[in-house]
Amino acid sequence: MRLMITLEEALETLLGRARLVEKEQVALLSAYQRVLAEEVVAPHDQPPFDRSPLDGYALRGEDIVHASPQYPARLKVTETLPAGRLPEGRVEPGTAVRIMTGAPIPPGADTVVRFEDTREDNGWVEIFTSLPPGSNVVPAGEDIRRGELVLKPGTLLKAPETGVLAALGVPLVKVFKEPRVAILSTGDELAGLEEELPPGKIRNSNLYALAASIREAGGIPLMLGNVPDRLQETVVKISEGLQRADLVLTTGGASVGDHDLIREAMVRAGARLLFWKVSMKPGMPVVAGEAENKLILGLSGNPAAALISFEVLVRPLLKKMGGCRNLFRPRVAVRLLDDFPKAVKQRRFLRAQVGMRDGELAARLTGVQGNGVLKSLLPANALLDIPAGRGPLKKGEQVEAILTGELTCPDSFMK
Ligand code: AMP
Ligand code: MG
Repeated sequence: MRLMITLEEALETLLGRARLVEKEQVALLSAYQRVLAEEVVAPHDQPPFDRSPLDGYALRGEDIVHASPQYPARLKVTETLPAGRLPEGRVEPGTAVRIMTGAPIPPGADTVVRFEDTREDNGWVEIFTSLPPGSNVVPAGEDIRRGELVLKPGTLLKAPETGVLAALGVPLVKVFKEPRVAILSTGDELAGLEEELPPGKIRNSNLYALAASIREAGGIPLMLGNVPDRLQETVVKISEGLQRADLVLTTGGASVGDHDLIREAMVRAGARLLFWKVSMKPGMPVVAGEAENKLILGLSGNPAAALISFEVLVRPLLKKMGGCRNLFRPRVAVRLLDDFPKAVKQRRFLRAQVGMRDGELAARLTGVQGNGVLKSLLPANALLDIPAGRGPLKKGEQVEAILTGELTCPDSFMK
């Protein structure tokens, strides 16, 4: 077991051992927020035919070369073509087809003139403008060409991807299964949400916060509940997690206290320990083990530490297990709007709100940064990644931010 390693070493260890989940086929509507597990190659052009992008007249460009408001071209209207219908005839010299948005360009025509530049009367239309041939024609395949690789495996399916799949007529999509994550909290002091809160006890917030984090990262939480600080019960629960899930996550008991039993419990559940402690704050006490080709991760019990180590360590792992190509959040350089007076001995993640300020990205700290403080995560959309040895930080300095949420709008940003 390696002791006190860097976050990058921890990630390398975990990502190198991550096992990919299986694939399944789901209906397109159920594929939202799932990870694509196949290549999607366009079976046809999109749009499938040359079409009109507006309501007007389809005609031959050469018939209106000299058209102007004073000397309009006069063309015979041979048919009206709504969207969804095929033309009956060709556009011969001296004729035009009244055409609606989305209708196919009739053979013979190469140009569409919008209604606003025309006047129709008694089966004839006057065209008041001259356009270069080819104007207002959307060619087949403008959006997507037949045979084109449009979506790669590992893509998270959102609204545009759903639209592309529907446009190409794909009713069933192969996606990765969502990794199942067993989640267990440990601690004699933890009370469930339905009980009275006896003196000396606290609510079991991590079980819920981590379950939500698992869902956000594309996994399915399996709630194993809480165990008191007793070895045998913890071993039993970890073993149950190994049976039922793709990954086992625990919170609490990962530090050096008398009742910090997680390492021992992992070993008794058959795990080989990979590392203990990651050099970062918050979230230093992380234990990683492996049993039956599955990873077991023990996070700190401190609520903010648990969520932040989930963010930087477990989320990329879950993304990898779930087949995602993009494992990491974007990083940006930001200007600090606050001082951070403490020297940074260990690499530190500071909760912050990032938004645009005076034409550049700026960050404001969101409050008390303690291990147990959850509230400062509420307005945070970023973690500032402060390297060991840096600091104290002064207002105006540039630091790197990991964007964990949406950027703040300028007007609501940090008054
Ligand atoms: P531990 O990591 O077990 O040493 O716990 C560190 C701190 O986090 C202690 O103050 C615990 O009471 C608290 N804590 C541990 N587990 C949880 C939990 N599931 N929910 C909220 N707080 C917790
Ligand atoms: Mg504990």
